Amino acid sequence: ILIVKQGGQKPLWEISMQWDEFSEWGAKVSQWAADYHSTLRDRPVRAQTKPGDVAALISPSAPEGPHPMTEIMKDFERVVMPGITHWQHPRFFAYFPANAAPPSMLAEMLVSTIAAQCMLWQTSPAATEMETVMLDWLRQAIGLPKHFSGVIQDSASSATLAAVLTMRERALNWSGNQAGLSGAARLRIYCSAEVHTSVDRAIWVAGIGQDNLVRIPISGKLRSMDPQALKVAIQSDIAAGYRPAGIIACTGGTGTGACDDLVEVLKVSREFNLYSHIDAAWAGAGMICPEFRELWTGVDAADSIVFNPHKWLGAQFDCSAHFLADPASLVKTLAIQPEYLKTHGHDGLINYSEWSVPLGRRFRALKLWFLLRSYGLEALRLRLRNHVIWAVDLADRLKGNSQFEIVTEPILSLFTFRLVGADDTAQIDFVNRINDDGRIYITQTKVDGRIAIRFQIGQFDVTEADILFAYDVMCEMAV
Ligand code: PLP
Repeated sequence: ILIVKQGGQKPLWEISMQWDEFSEWGAKVSQWAADYHSTLRDRPVRAQTKPGDVAALISPSAPEGPHPMTEIMKDFERVVMPGITHWQHPRFFAYFPANAAPPSMLAEMLVSTIAAQCMLWQTSPAATEMETVMLDWLRQAIGLPKHFSGVIQDSASSATLAAVLTMRERALNWSGNQAGLSGAARLRIYCSAEVHTSVDRAIWVAGIGQDNLVRIPISGKLRSMDPQALKVAIQSDIAAGYRPAGIIACTGGTGTGACDDLVEVLKVSREFNLYSHIDAAWAGAGMICPEFRELWTGVDAADSIVFNPHKWLGAQFDCSAHFLADPASLVKTLAIQPEYLKTHGHDGLINYSEWSVPLGRRFRALKLWFLLRSYGLEALRLRLRNHVIWAVDLADRLKGNSQFEIVTEPILSLFTFRLVGADDTAQIDFVNRINDDGRIYITQTKVDGRIAIRFQIGQFDVTEADILFAYDVMCEMAV
């Protein structure tokens, strides 16, 4: 279709943003980013907008003609920024962190510019080869043995889904993808109640069904699933005609940081020839510090492990490192090769889209390269160690204050606490009061059926002064 000049007006493509303006706007956006980071402490951590506030400021339909970039940027400040919860705020103590260290952001800017799809080796050899090497850097950094190979998934949820699908196919002698599940043996998968809900979702999506996710009771300070109870559950399932398929364990569960006893749990998985997946989405980053690796002693025997460098380590979202003892089982489960994806003459090379559910994939390894090179592991270790020390100090401080009680002791840099003598509603009111106030941001969980308040330290720029500040805010808001 020709766009015809009418009445002396410029054609639409000349009015819209041009490449020659891009560097000017790119520079402005970079300056904006630096200013944003330097003013984060002056902003409320959690967005203070009410539902609908932002949508009300956005035009209900797309414009027919172009808007100038100046106006779009002004509207970005006016419409968007008040509705942002600042995950890069140093006083973000909610959920787990989603750090975006500056070198990893720069890498992402380059990746956005190149905008390559990296599904096959051929569709960007540098992305595939960088991914292989970066995953091996990470493997060494977290102390996993050489037999693990890695792939970057878009999320820990995707890695867990890929592992569950592998469990399913392996347990069905690789017939599930072809024949479907109706008429197949009823599969069982085992985990504790401490694992993230991405496990439940994976079970649903894989067609295994929530009823076949067997929760094993926990015991001990680390809230590990009880290996003896696990064994008994598997034996009784076999006796009842079910087919056990796999075990999902956690190192650093979301609620309290629970860590399964991997030596004992993986002994059981070997005894019954079950596929094992370890979710260390948050705590895996901590394993760059050798002294924390006792939390996952025994991990060497796992089949599949996921950790998110996009959480505590500093790589901008999204970046989930998925390690596999036997990638061939995953590829056998997920690979599909229509003619249009064949790369004749390049057989035998890694095509990472065969290791994951989505076909399209971004060039995620570049931010790891930038991050790991520009800090070096020792500087990253120092950060994580400080977070752990400060979490222990803060928990001690709260213990010494009669307004508070510790519910679960720090596991790495996460612990839970409560207001003394207050019911669940009062605990939630306390959390809401703090977050409405905006100086710090915390969230809650349930521990043994009761609300507990989570406190995790992991934001990349947090300082000890921020933790002392948080303590003062919590004392002030408790009364
Ligand atoms: N596993 C654990 C332990 C988590 O804490 C989370 C999210 O916080 C996930 C999995 C899900 O991570 P993702 O958002 O990468 O799917």
